[in-house]
Amino acid sequence: MHEQIELLRALQELDRELNGIRQERRNLEKEQADLESEKLRIQAMVDSLDEEISGFQSQIEELHQGLAQEDVHVRRSEDRLPEIKTQKEYLAVLKEIDATKKMTKDLTAQCDEKLARIADLQAEKEEKLGQLEELKARSEARGNEITEALGACDKMLEEKAGQRSTHFDPLPKQLQKRYALLMERRGGVAVVEARDGNCTGCHMHLPPQLFNSLFLEPQIQSCPHCNRLLFVTGRED
Ligand SMILES: [Zn+2]
Repeated sequence: MHEQIELLRALQELDRELNGIRQERRNLEKEQADLESEKLRIQAMVDSLDEEISGFQSQIEELHQGLAQEDVHVRRSEDRLPEIKTQKEYLAVLKEIDATKKMTKDLTAQCDEKLARIADLQAEKEEKLGQLEELKARSEARGNEITEALGACDKMLEEKAGQRSTHFDPLPKQLQKRYALLMERRGGVAVVEARDGNCTGCHMHLPPQLFNSLFLEPQIQSCPHCNRLLFVTGRED
C-alpha cells in the first residue's frame, strides 16, 4: 500500500486518540468548574439566609424599643391614677392603659412570630452549611483526583503530539492541508476505506474506474462525493 496512505491512516488514528484525550480533559475541567460553582451557589444561599436573619433581628430590636415605650406609657398612666378627681378622667386613663396593654400584647406577638421565622431560617442555614461542608470535602478529594488526571492527560497529549509529528511531518505540505481540512469538515474522519465499490465514509458508490484504480495507481485518490481520502485493503477479485 501507498506509504503516504499508511502515514495518513496512522495519523488519523493518533488524532482520534488526541481528540479523545482533549475531550476527557474538557470533561475534567468542567467537572472541576461545576464543583466550584456548586460551592458558590450554596454559599450564596447561606449568605442570603444570613441577610434575612439579620433583617428579622433588626425588626425585633425595633419591636423591643416599641415595647419599652409602651411600658413607659403604662407606668405613666398608672402613676396618674391616684391624682385623678373625676370618674370621667379615671375611665379615660383606664382606657389608655387598656390600649397600651393591647399594643404591648400585639408587639409581643409580632416579636414571637419573627423569632419563629429566625429559628426556621437558622435551621435552614444549618442544613445548607452541612451541605457546604460535605461538598467542600468531596470537592477537595475529587479535586485532587482531577488535578492528577489532568496532569496525566497533559503528559499523554505531549507524548502523542511527538508521535504525531513523525507521521505528519513527512507528508507533502499540500496533503497535510487537505488532511487537516477534511478532519475539520468531515467530523474527524479524513481517511476511509473503499470497500465493495463504495466509500465507507459517505457510503456512496464510487465510479468503477476510480475504485479499480485504487488497486493499481500509487497516488492518493479522493471520494468524488465527500472528498475523503481513500484506501483499499486488498485486491478485488
Ligand atoms: Zn465518500
